[in-house]
Amino acid sequence: MSLGQFQFHKPKTTGEACALGVEFGRQAAYLAGGTELLVDLRSGRKSVAHVISLEGLAELKQISVAEGTLRIGALVPLSDIADSPLVKDHFPALSDAITTMAGRQIRNRGTMGGNFCCGVPCSDTPPIACAADATVVVTGPDGEHTVAAREFVLAPRVTVLNPGEILTEIRIPAQPQNTGASFQRFALRRGSALAVASVAAWVQLDGGKITEARLFLGSVGPTPLSAVKAAEMLVGNSPTTELLAAAGAMAASEAQPISDLRGSEQYRRDVVEVLTARAVAQACERAEGKQ
Ligand SMILES: Cc1cc2nc3c(=O)[nH]c(=O)nc-3n(C[C@H](O)[C@H](O)[C@H](O)COP(=O)(O)OP(=O)(O)OC[C@H]3O[C@@H](n4cnc5c(N)ncnc54)[C@H](O)[C@@H]3O)c2cc1C
Repeated sequence: MSLGQFQFHKPKTTGEACALGVEFGRQAAYLAGGTELLVDLRSGRKSVAHVISLEGLAELKQISVAEGTLRIGALVPLSDIADSPLVKDHFPALSDAITTMAGRQIRNRGTMGGNFCCGVPCSDTPPIACAADATVVVTGPDGEHTVAAREFVLAPRVTVLNPGEILTEIRIPAQPQNTGASFQRFALRRGSALAVASVAAWVQLDGGKITEARLFLGSVGPTPLSAVKAAEMLVGNSPTTELLAAAGAMAASEAQPISDLRGSEQYRRDVVEVLTARAVAQACERAEGKQ
């Protein structure tokens, strides 16, 4: 199948890209790495009259740390994020998450901005970014504002972005002492396969007890899902095997999976139960400085 007929635009600045987005509205799509958009155009799931390439926006291709906050430009290829010493040092669980997703070729083209903006439930970077309490920067015709990562995706394939708005940066805040995070994912085969379920965990420890916890589930709800009750169970307690198993069971009950070709609803709940215990265990080990 062909990609369809569209006019191709290659703006040189973010301002120009926003202006084109406003001019063509819902008749246009931004193109980052194209690993999702081109598939959608070719399959006929999406059809647009204008494709606006973000390739020329050099300012969106940087990774930096400023005042303790890790800033990842929306156009940085996923593989560069995973390999970045800044990312590995600041928040290694993001590097882990990216390394488990897709295959090398897709990671070389695809971007974290695109992974957020496609808004699909099986996107792998939003759950771990939510667990890190990340924010995303949205630039539009009226300037720049930030949105909590957990509020960015509203429903499957629907985000907070309006026409003319571009996700320009993902910001991961400074990680306090004694904190750790983990991303656990299960797919039906190794290599390029979408997740059946994923779990991102973030914890803070004090004196061997969990003082704060966040858990986000991927591929088992319409958006990255906060497993609030499971996280609450962890707080104030030592991470014993029994506690992790109980939190896993609670997270499984909070999941909202569908049945599809990758797994039934019950299978996905079972996977969430196991992954949650593993994710919390690894997050705690990291918080204790063991990894
Ligand atoms: C074989 C294969 C395997 C895959 N495996 C995985 C996987 O395991 N896990 C996973 O999460 N994903 C996977 N994907 C999906 C895809 O590769 C990722 O979601 C990728 O991160 C998308 O980024 P991109 O830069 O290619 O986005 P694009 O395809 O360029 O864009 C995706 C959507 O976001 C919009 N967009 C992109 N960037 C911006 C921006 N900065 N501001 C506003 N709008 C924007 C586009 O208009 C489009 O609607 C896979 C895809 C393929 C083809």
